[in-house]
Amino acid sequence: MKVHNVSLKISAVRPEQYPDEGYPEIGLVGRSNVGKSSLINRLINRKSYARTSSQPGKTQTLNFYDVESMLYLVDVPGYGYAKVSKAEREKWGRMIETYLTQRETLRGVVSLIDARHEPTELDVQMVEFLHYYELPILVVATKIDKVSRSKWNKVEKDIKKKIKIEEQDELILFSATEKIGEEEVWNWIEKRTKI
Ligand code: GDP
Repeated sequence: MKVHNVSLKISAVRPEQYPDEGYPEIGLVGRSNVGKSSLINRLINRKSYARTSSQPGKTQTLNFYDVESMLYLVDVPGYGYAKVSKAEREKWGRMIETYLTQRETLRGVVSLIDARHEPTELDVQMVEFLHYYELPILVVATKIDKVSRSKWNKVEKDIKKKIKIEEQDELILFSATEKIGEEEVWNWIEKRTKI
């Protein structure tokens, strides 16, 4: 999809703040610095609309991007910041769990994994959690431009093995800088949201 109109509808923390138009929705999750903002900016065809590299200590919010008044892309705050306190991590956990388990319009979740490294324990846990709630998953391996092409098959195999990807899940290799995988990600989103 070629996006022309996009706006940040709301940065929400509680369900009462979630938008209520009923558009189908896709959540995006991943550890901090995985390249989530860069992916969102590519998808919505903007240079730096989604914040890049969320800073620790900043308010953690669910950012709802209205795309063409047809669907919401929801930027879920990243996990795995070493400096975040236990209390903040717990608050984050409650907010994410509430969102992922109660949002009726949520049609699927894009789970981002850094192609350069083995999936972390938190990556594995996130995918297990999504499987548990039977949410359709697209795994996106980010920054694939940093990996030589001869290793791309191995990256796919290693990720699939480590995070126990299921039959119905999909995996796409992606680069925000080299524009690799963008169309495939949109195809998956369009299929899931039936837009
Ligand atoms: P976020 O914290 O998950 O939102 O990650 P960002 O989108 O802010 O990206 C974190 C860092 O990785 C930034 O320095 C980006 O420039 C870099 N980055 C993101 N995507 C790519 C990519 O596809 N290729 C390369 N080479 N760098 C990337």
